Amino acid sequence: MTVAQDLPSRVRGCSNASHQPNGASEPTNGHANGVHKSPHVVDGFATRAIHVGSEPNPETGAVIPPISLSTTYAQDGVGVHKGYEYSRSGNPNRNALERTLAAIETGGSEAITFASGSATTAIVIQSLGPSAHVISVNDVYGGTYRYIARVAATTQGVESTFLDLENIGPGTEGERRLIQALRPNTKIIWVETPTNPTLRVIDIARLTQVLDQQYPPHSPNASSRPLLLVDNTFASPYYSSPLLLGADIVLHSLTKYINGHSDVVMGALILPARLAATTEYLRYLQNATGAVPSAYDSWLAQRGIKTLHVRMKQHGVNALRIAKALQQEPDVEEVIYPGLGKERSVNAWRNLSPHAKKWIENEGLLGEDGSFPCSGIVSFRLRKPTPHATDDEYAALASQFLKNLRLFMLAESLGGVESLAEAPARMTHASIPPEEREMLGIGEGLIRLSIGIEEAEDLLDDLRAGLRSVY
Ligand SMILES: *Cc1c(COP(=O)(O)O)cnc(C)c1O
Repeated sequence: MTVAQDLPSRVRGCSNASHQPNGASEPTNGHANGVHKSPHVVDGFATRAIHVGSEPNPETGAVIPPISLSTTYAQDGVGVHKGYEYSRSGNPNRNALERTLAAIETGGSEAITFASGSATTAIVIQSLGPSAHVISVNDVYGGTYRYIARVAATTQGVESTFLDLENIGPGTEGERRLIQALRPNTKIIWVETPTNPTLRVIDIARLTQVLDQQYPPHSPNASSRPLLLVDNTFASPYYSSPLLLGADIVLHSLTKYINGHSDVVMGALILPARLAATTEYLRYLQNATGAVPSAYDSWLAQRGIKTLHVRMKQHGVNALRIAKALQQEPDVEEVIYPGLGKERSVNAWRNLSPHAKKWIENEGLLGEDGSFPCSGIVSFRLRKPTPHATDDEYAALASQFLKNLRLFMLAESLGGVESLAEAPARMTHASIPPEEREMLGIGEGLIRLSIGIEEAEDLLDDLRAGLRSVY
């Protein structure tokens, strides 16, 4: 079985409510909300993050779930058990974490966790079966590109098209290219927003609209509609709720913001109730491939989620402040932040979750220039040391700047409470061919910051001192 077999029922089941283009309100069909089974259905994001999956232990009353390390479970009779048989198939900590994830990724019904974000990607692609065609945003996470274009191309005959999806408004060249790329065997559209490291924002509701037009519900074409997957790692469930904008699957590397403390590698998928058969098959693959997270990591990630909203707000406030301050620096050429700058911030606002919009509006955080906090990644370009500096000279400047920082640690990854800085051209994105890097705007002077939740003033002083040290 492949997910394609699920498509007819999926399309039948998708009401207008779950494909609202504006995404301003929660779905009204009652099924797409992950907490419909629990009494927490009316609770806000923070309350769900803290309570769902963390109910007091019925035996001891312990407020925090115990870590359940047992690999196997005693049965009262053959096949008579308490819901657990063997820890790869199900574990109390993993199951609890999955319930929490389904509750915080608004519009979700079930979550399935994996040993890493990359294992999650591999299993989604595997689920498409042989000879599927994948359309992906062109500056997708490097490991995702590698799995689709290199691994799955060889092992499953997967075909792929990588597209610039930033501009797909009605009548645009981008829309035309997207429609042209659709094939009868296109099974999935893979989106990341904001992208890494140039933070392009893709309008999820618009993508849904294009799919609705190409595969009208109830038309003969509806059954070949590809799934829309959004890798929501960079925005986190706090800043974006892609399932409310019509996405079918949300993917997270929990390694980043969701765990948030740089001490767990894990991934997850969250799906809405209307995709029950796809969910069931992906859960089957979770057990069959065995790429599962440990009980301890599940416990840690759940602990991390309890402060996700607080962390994300502070990441956003700090990042916006630093992005604005960097714009004033003479040695900084361009600052990229999704909540800053006219066009980018329009799409970023459209993708913002209802709870983030409410927070920003209630706290008066929407600037007169239209800026707003939108997650914690800021990228910027250092000025060239001299107008005719070579790539190596430019890279050396970037490297010296990074080495001279005191608080920002020179490291890959992102999303932890501590601030990190890196040079994508020579680190995270070094495997991309130079011409392609050039096209994506990943030059030698580009710096990516993962803004932590330290004092913003200290972080700014650190960056300013770093700039002064190299110019
Ligand atoms: C890190 C990351 C991944 C891969 O996750 P791992 O947990 O490192 O395997 C996928 N997508 C994005 C956007 C990421 O940042």
